[in-house]
Amino acid sequence: MQPIQDLYPLLSTPRTVVITMHQKPDADAMGSALGLYHFLRQLGHQVTVVSPTNWARWLNWMPGCNTVVDFELHRDRAEALLAKAEWLFCLDFNVLLRTKNMAPKIRAISNTRILIDHHQQPEVESFAYGVSNTAKSSTCEMIYDFIMESGHGALINNDIAECLYAGVIADTGSFRFPAASAHVHTMVSDLKGRGLNHTQVHENIYDNFLENRLRLIGHVLLHRMEIYYEYNTALIAISKKDLLRYEVKTGDTDGLVNYPLSIQGIKLAALVIDRDEERKWSFRSKGDFDVNTFARKYFEGGGHFNAAGGRSSASLDQTVQDFMEAMKKSAVELQD
Ligand code: 5GP
Ligand code: MN
Repeated sequence: MQPIQDLYPLLSTPRTVVITMHQKPDADAMGSALGLYHFLRQLGHQVTVVSPTNWARWLNWMPGCNTVVDFELHRDRAEALLAKAEWLFCLDFNVLLRTKNMAPKIRAISNTRILIDHHQQPEVESFAYGVSNTAKSSTCEMIYDFIMESGHGALINNDIAECLYAGVIADTGSFRFPAASAHVHTMVSDLKGRGLNHTQVHENIYDNFLENRLRLIGHVLLHRMEIYYEYNTALIAISKKDLLRYEVKTGDTDGLVNYPLSIQGIKLAALVIDRDEERKWSFRSKGDFDVNTFARKYFEGGGHFNAAGGRSSASLDQTVQDFMEAMKKSAVELQD
């Protein structure tokens, strides 16, 4: 993988470009993709964002979101776009497998793949150019750097500012996590100076849910959360029945895993959802418990030190049992 700086001189020649991100894109994945989209278009490139799957309805406010092609929904169109693209930007994921059903297609096509990402242990051999920096708060921060370092800061307009700000607040927990560096605040100061309405973006993301999501959270915290104080761990398991009862849609469970961390002493919060195709795990930690390693070791996953995810093809009951075993094996790291 050549450094991303080697791409800067090539930006001035218009090309056909596809931008993609991890499946079920969150605000950072969608925000970075659309931020880059608005930037590259101003340089004359022909750009399309292709998402591997659908996304939460509360991301639809993002400028340009109505142009994003859902690979699963419009497969022929998405495949044609991928085949035609000279450049393929891969944002906010470290391994091609994170694009789910798109991964084999991406591997089969020989376009120039460019990685911009902040997850650990990236598959660097799969990319021609790129930057991977786990110290970065968000991929949106990295897109800001990409635009500024390539000498095109003047092109940052309100659409770009809104998209990038959304990813930064999502991935820093509204500037709470350690990755909210001085540079992040300097970036936000710059965006504010350009006229960004940050309150509106925050409302678009956090005050834009439907009633069912809040009811689900109430139900789950009351009936589905188990606390194992001996291991400083909390576990939430959501069944298919719960998903149906509360009409859960993509994105409705985002953020749920964070709730148990607000309990004093809890170091590890785990959430498992019984999805149709797999049991999907989310892990969050406070302090020195490394959920990236935990997810890799026990649940075919990964992510960051304090936020990671994984999966299992076992039943919900079985994967919960597996989790209990893994928790017990991690006793030394989990106990004070
Ligand atoms: P979330 O729990 O919000 O789905 O994911 C937390 C973090 O872990 C995100 O940065 C996400 O990209 C990463 N992550 C989630 N699931 C997986 C997975 O199955 N594999 C890997 N490598 N990373 C994941
Ligand atoms: Mn991210």
